[in-house]
Amino acid sequence: MEGILVRKIRDGTVIDHIPAGMAFTVLRILGLHRDVDSRLAVIVNTDSRKHGRKDMIKIEDKYIGGDILNKIALIAPHATINIIKDFDIVEKYRVDLPDNIENVVRCSNPVCITNSDREAVTPTFSVVSKSPIRLKCKYCGRYTEFEDIINQFTEK
Ligand SMILES: [Zn+2]
Repeated sequence: MEGILVRKIRDGTVIDHIPAGMAFTVLRILGLHRDVDSRLAVIVNTDSRKHGRKDMIKIEDKYIGGDILNKIALIAPHATINIIKDFDIVEKYRVDLPDNIENVVRCSNPVCITNSDREAVTPTFSVVSKSPIRLKCKYCGRYTEFEDIINQFTEK
């Protein structure tokens, strides 16, 4: 079925095991929804052996790595990243939410010091729960949850 839908890419990144319906949010997180130069394929609602339905993104000639993966883990905790070179998977890893998150998400408390324009305080959270995601602000103690995060990642 997948072979019919999308051909293999020669070089690039494949993000697999994205929860069904979340592929376009992942694209926004990666900033690729506005990138008119990237060649990418978004496959939604494909069958997954492990988790029912899933989404998948194939990005040609781009290698995704580093901190941005922590962001993907916030909404796609089981996502895997495959780095493809010359049609072979040369690297494969799972996104992993660290115990602490810095600078990725904003605190849901509007009067938190991390949201103040006058103070340069980096938002810092401890990860209280991974599924469903729940973050606790180290400064004000307020929880930031899945819905807050989705809203932040999808606002214009
Ligand atoms: Zn806070």
